[in-house]
Amino acid sequence: MLGGSIGLFRIGKTEIRLHATFLLLLAWIGALHWMRNGPQAALTGVVFISLLFACVLLHELGHAMAARRYGIETRDITLLPIGGVASLDQMPEKPSQEIVVALAGPAVNVVIAAVLYGVLWLSGDVPKAQPLAEIGQAPTGLLAQLAMANVALAVFNLIPAFPMDGGRVLRALLATQVGHVRATEVAATIGQALAGVLVLLGLFGNPLLILIAVFVFLAATSEAGFVQAREATRGRMASHAAIEVFSTLGPASSVSDGADLLLRTTQHEFPVVDGARRLRGVVTREAIINALQDKGDATPVLDIMEADVPTVPANASLDVVFKRMQEEGRRFVGVTDRDGAFVGYLTPENISELIMVRRARTLHEQMAAGR
Ligand code: ZN
Repeated sequence: MLGGSIGLFRIGKTEIRLHATFLLLLAWIGALHWMRNGPQAALTGVVFISLLFACVLLHELGHAMAARRYGIETRDITLLPIGGVASLDQMPEKPSQEIVVALAGPAVNVVIAAVLYGVLWLSGDVPKAQPLAEIGQAPTGLLAQLAMANVALAVFNLIPAFPMDGGRVLRALLATQVGHVRATEVAATIGQALAGVLVLLGLFGNPLLILIAVFVFLAATSEAGFVQAREATRGRMASHAAIEVFSTLGPASSVSDGADLLLRTTQHEFPVVDGARRLRGVVTREAIINALQDKGDATPVLDIMEADVPTVPANASLDVVFKRMQEEGRRFVGVTDRDGAFVGYLTPENISELIMVRRARTLHEQMAAGR
């Protein structure tokens, strides 16, 4: 889901990844402190941010451990400049379980803060807030700052802006009343509205809030779409959504034939199918246009087609196919009949059409039921 990240290490089955922009943040913090207060301050700043993100990592591991109790594994945890993202294989659909998983993260920060305050109290140092730049060389200054930051992390993550933790709790509570899909839609709408508030706060305060707002907005939108897609594809077969009326190219076709089809149909991808009705590959609109420009009309489509195309049997579970398309970033999946002959294909566009059709029918049913 997130490009530009590097794998650091693994904890169990979970890979811990660091987004490249995070290193930019470290460099920026270091440079900022160096310019203001010299090398010692730069070091303190970088150490503080590193410790802070260790706490963010523990927060995400809290989610992962809680999810594991319900048999859900976490593929990876990515640390971004705006926080951490844990990619759970799925979210528990039972509201009570989602609440436990969502609260586990902030709970970790509360525990860390309590431990740090305990240490400070035992050491007789009264924790008080200082601007980051003024943290002296005394390690207790750093600890006090870190304790405060953990309180802030817990509070901030509990803002009910879906898909932040507080938003997940909100969705789970709503789900007990109105069902999972509707609850996600409502929570996502509230999340998007709160993202707007964060932008306003960011304009007058910390600009990092604007980044977080953008992230919340996009994540809320995509998660709402994902939940709708899962509901629409559940219990269906690949053949229910597959495109079955289409034009094809043959192994002997040229780019010129492809250009003709491009103009005469509304398709943007053309399956290349041989005499035995086997799918040999797919030629996209971009490939046709590029080939026309670079290689000319006579180029065989076999030279420009994408040959590595997954196929699924017509009776494959649509939700499994959809999940694979998402995970592997596939924009074309062939559908075959019992004999392996090519009979249709799936694209992200026709999955969205399936969602639109399902949504319209549901709304009609609700209207008919007088809701
Ligand atoms: Zn969290």
